[in-house]
Amino acid sequence: MSQLKKVLAIGPHPDDIELWCFGTMCRLANEWYEIYFLVLSRWEWWSNGIDRTEEARASSHLLNCTLYIEDLPDRYMTHGQDTISIIEKYVAQISPDIVFIPSGNDVHQDHRAVFQASLVAVRMINEVYVYQSPSTTTNFHPTAYFDITDYIKTKIQAVRIHSSQGWKVYMADRAIEWLAEYRAFDIFRNDRFMEAFELIRIIK
Ligand SMILES: [Zn+2]
Repeated sequence: MSQLKKVLAIGPHPDDIELWCFGTMCRLANEWYEIYFLVLSRWEWWSNGIDRTEEARASSHLLNCTLYIEDLPDRYMTHGQDTISIIEKYVAQISPDIVFIPSGNDVHQDHRAVFQASLVAVRMINEVYVYQSPSTTTNFHPTAYFDITDYIKTKIQAVRIHSSQGWKVYMADRAIEWLAEYRAFDIFRNDRFMEAFELIRIIK
């Protein structure tokens, strides 16, 4: 029997994967891919008190995926060796077929840093996609779309679990739905919900 294909999603913060590619993760899990989440930070810096680990665990349980959560400093991540070596460690351990990473065209410094570090760490991976965040700039130009119509409710549920962030407007149910509808309009699938990505490369 052939081995299951593996997908690794990398999030700088505990809600990034849920917000920007969770529907796609649900879809791929349903297509029998093995799903892995790597979250690079757990603490919210300004509160000095919110440990977001349990929220990350709870939402990953909706998918029954494997979650790894690290402890890089929120807002102070670098694109250098400290971040690269953490990602490289999990890439070597998991050996994913497909990887999802944040955008480098982003006003959040952690997202830019993790994009840069990921490019190095996943250089040998055949299929790599960039996801969109609320801080991604207008230079995000999607070229790959995943239909998440069957999973939009699960995605909303996953985002709701991150209640420590619930006051942010992009966490609202309607924000999740409207972005997914807008992305469907991009490609004239007007009755669907989509997540959109930039394809870095695919090697077959
Ligand atoms: Zn983030």
